Amino acid sequence: MTAVSKPAGEPEGTAEQAALTDGIHLVVDALKINEVENVYGVVGIPITDLARVAQASGIRYIGFRHESDAGHAAAAAGFLTKKPGICLTVSAPGFLNGLVALANATTNCFPMVQISGSSERHLVDLQRGDYEELDQLAAAKPFVKAAYRVHRAEDIGRGIARAIRTAASGRPGGVYLDIPAAVLGEVIDAEKGAASLWKVVDPAPAQLPSHEAVDRAIDLLASAERPLIVLGKGAAYAQADSQVREFVESTGIPYLPMSMAKGLLPDDHPQSAATARSLALKRADVVLLVGARLNWLLGHGEAPQWNPDAKFIQVDIAANEMDSNQPIAAPLVGDVGSVLEALAERTKPGQISVSAEWKDELADRTRKNVDRMAGKLAAAREAAPMQFLGALQAVRDVLAEHPNVKLVNEGANALDKARSTIGMQRPRHRLDVGTWGVMGIGMGYAIAAAVETGDPVVAVEGDSAFGFSGMEIETVCRYRLPIVTLVLNNSGVYRGDEASTTDDPAPTALGARHERMIEAFGGKGYRATTPDEVATALREALAAGEPALIDCVIDPADGTESGNIAHLNPKGISAKQ
Ligand code: ADP
Repeated sequence: MTAVSKPAGEPEGTAEQAALTDGIHLVVDALKINEVENVYGVVGIPITDLARVAQASGIRYIGFRHESDAGHAAAAAGFLTKKPGICLTVSAPGFLNGLVALANATTNCFPMVQISGSSERHLVDLQRGDYEELDQLAAAKPFVKAAYRVHRAEDIGRGIARAIRTAASGRPGGVYLDIPAAVLGEVIDAEKGAASLWKVVDPAPAQLPSHEAVDRAIDLLASAERPLIVLGKGAAYAQADSQVREFVESTGIPYLPMSMAKGLLPDDHPQSAATARSLALKRADVVLLVGARLNWLLGHGEAPQWNPDAKFIQVDIAANEMDSNQPIAAPLVGDVGSVLEALAERTKPGQISVSAEWKDELADRTRKNVDRMAGKLAAAREAAPMQFLGALQAVRDVLAEHPNVKLVNEGANALDKARSTIGMQRPRHRLDVGTWGVMGIGMGYAIAAAVETGDPVVAVEGDSAFGFSGMEIETVCRYRLPIVTLVLNNSGVYRGDEASTTDDPAPTALGARHERMIEAFGGKGYRATTPDEVATALREALAAGEPALIDCVIDPADGTESGNIAHLNPKGISAKQ
């Protein structure tokens, strides 16, 4: 734990040398004390030595090509481990690049800390024009859960403890920690430095609702004719997998998983209402939301998507999430595990039941939708050129042989179609665009999933989405990570067949042989033009456990503009018909 460095100009081996430390070593020691195992970043002034010292200390440093990708990796690490993922950035532009990911982490309620070096305060604050001058603390504030700056080396331990506590406790989120270059270089007494560091005890304490709140919720559930549980990514994050499963199964209530909650219970679970989603929302009269917000992804809980008379019970760690969209008849403020245990404990035997009519209604709709989908899938399987659904069925079949694979998914059509085609069997095995529907998380999330879990990763990417973080393929190859990237390449944003009205390509046009990119970095590239070729390439790549990229050539005419969310486009006079 003791950090020792040689102050500038000091000869080796003096008595003073052993008694001194500096800001850089204190940051690393504070991270070590708090059991940080991995740091994601991009080096440069003033943090290059920080990365070196971290690596030498046994922390795994993963160096990226772009700070947004490093930040997305840290965010995904936070989601997967329930501990704040750490991202390290340089000042000004590097900081701003990372801030995108920190804001995205905050929006998704993932714990993350971005530590950034910054330029000289006395120059920045008088706007005298310093190298990479920016008031980073002020810039970060609107986008994050909290932003702190350390002004003295002796406060580094406090700053890191505060950042970790804030990121992980309550509703998790992104915390910005500003450490000016001068503080990183500040030399202080090693003993004083060591004494200034501490380990955060119980960073995210359990939070329990009162008995009254629990009983109110049970009474409401017991009164329901058509109850429904909605599981969100907060439930997946909570790592309360057995409590979730036991509560769902013991009550028999049908449930809907939000996309990153898929796998909390296997997607083929008999109580899953996923394939009768619109009916379930329209008809449910009492809805138990577990770690899921009634935001745009759930139509704000409004009619006509929802039953206008539905009553809501909400389990959430954030009290102010209640009533954000609809009246919450029974708020349950607490962590998912504690709340579900309390519900299970206080429910009397037989108090909650689900009618056969409700189960049958959902089962009928499920059957119809599954049949309709089967027809579409069969047609797509045979289509030439290959369609999204043809390629994705091949991916689905191969992944069924590898339930430990972590699936990363982004794009428009690539997202919508993969989500409905590829079933998940295990919790926290699907990472996707999340609350913002953001593009660019792909390679960062995939790298973190591989680094944090050691499991193989398959990233299913639209060709446009992949482009945002595509250069990180080099990072994947440099660290020899077991990541197979499938690019569903229909040569365009949404689709690739739009005619241009000028000599330039249409705004939605793209064109790339992505498999050649990975070959440049020493990875294995495949080009697949049929579902069978996709399956063969994916099987081979997963068996090899090495970096690979499969460019799946999709019909440019296959693809819907804006995927499932086309209704969010403005409807003005130029609206594309
Ligand atoms: P989804 O997009 O899957 O519907 P959201 O991101 O909208 O999920 O909702 C996640 C919710 O989970 C957030 O409101 C967050 O406050 C909450 N949450 C996060 N961690 C926990 C936890 N441990 N216990 C309870 N709620 C949590």
